[in-house]
Amino acid sequence: MNQSDCIFCKIVRKEAFAAVLYEDEDIMVFMDIKPINEGHILIIPKKHAVLVEDLEEEVFLHMVSIARKFVARIKNRIPETTAINYFIADGKDAGQEVFHVHLHVIPRKPNDGFRFIFDKEYYTRLLSEVDREIVKEKLLS
Ligand code: AMP
Ligand code: ZN
Repeated sequence: MNQSDCIFCKIVRKEAFAAVLYEDEDIMVFMDIKPINEGHILIIPKKHAVLVEDLEEEVFLHMVSIARKFVARIKNRIPETTAINYFIADGKDAGQEVFHVHLHVIPRKPNDGFRFIFDKEYYTRLLSEVDREIVKEKLLS
């Protein structure tokens, strides 16, 4: 996948349609084509980058800042919105399907049917204090 094949780059270049809510020099905000709930939007950098770590930090912070502004608008205009998921699938194993960074803003409402699914063992798997310290040290070393 390169920039010429990337659907989000095509949207940036206006070669593909998107319902665009906002754009500036660095970022763009548009409606998700397959919304989990009404008001589901995506915030992307204009410059092609696959992962968050490939992005300039400033651009990432700007994406988050604009996302917050749209959350206020979503809650105001779509009053059944009771909560929000800010979500990034940062790599294939995290569920990334479009390999151009995008921050999802997903409006949520009670019993909307969207959920993260875990293995059954997850619910009983508590990490001991010792094991938490071991992993902490690994991250800090
Ligand atoms: P992800 O699994 O995080 O990579 O999700 C990709 C997201 O992009 C999904 O929510 C898709 O519905 C959305 N998407 C894919 N193609 C388009 C498009 N052409 N316009 C708007 N949203 C899109
Ligand atoms: Zn791209």
